Amino acid sequence: MRIKADLHAHSCLSPCGDLRMSPLALARAASEAGLQMIALTDHNTALNIPAFAHACERVGVYPVFGVEVTSSEEAHVLALFADPATAVDFGTTVYASLPDVAFDPESYGDQVVVDEEEMIVSELSKYLIGASSLSMAELGAMIHRAGGLYIPAHIDRASFSVWSQLGFLPPDRYDAVEIVGRSDRIAFDGFTAITSSDAHEPEQVAQRYISFDAERAGFEELHEAIRAGRVELHGLTE
Ligand SMILES: [Zn+2]
Ligand SMILES: [Zn+2]
Repeated sequence: MRIKADLHAHSCLSPCGDLRMSPLALARAASEAGLQMIALTDHNTALNIPAFAHACERVGVYPVFGVEVTSSEEAHVLALFADPATAVDFGTTVYASLPDVAFDPESYGDQVVVDEEEMIVSELSKYLIGASSLSMAELGAMIHRAGGLYIPAHIDRASFSVWSQLGFLPPDRYDAVEIVGRSDRIAFDGFTAITSSDAHEPEQVAQRYISFDAERAGFEELHEAIRAGRVELHGLTE
């Protein structure tokens, strides 16, 4: 079957995420858009992952458990995992590495952790958009040790990307690179490219996504398709 997957989306826990974007709203939007797989990748935390796991089971879409980390170079990096506990552990390490910048909801938006019933259970005190003290190379090693996929995010975007921060893609063992457009601003020879919506509100889910052939939706199936470069990109901006 043809699997459609959107591997980068935020929930209400990201300060830039819409408050309507609960993990359940994300799962529902993915299902309504005809996706078989959807990832939650909040900035520098995975505390909405347990609610997201529950929501995806309820809605019937296959979940990928992720974090979008801001590296010490201020480049965004996607870490994608097969199971929620691994993602939560990884997110806890990343959150601990953030600077102690107090969060101000008035200026930045909300950072709310919700439970399975979509009730707000806490708000995070550190500003999640800060840069981790972990470098890309350190993050890559951590992600691989935990069995995850290591994917530099929106590498062709003009901010918070390897292109904007470094001007090139440093050599490393990436599983793929994420692009948003058709431009060839940055070379990624040899790496499989993926694209994803980076949705912050339900209406944006699946604006960009990948598709691949597999017997069923699954993390191993996704990994295999990426490894083999058998992915098609949809919705790239011109
Ligand atoms: Zn980003
Ligand atoms: Zn993002």
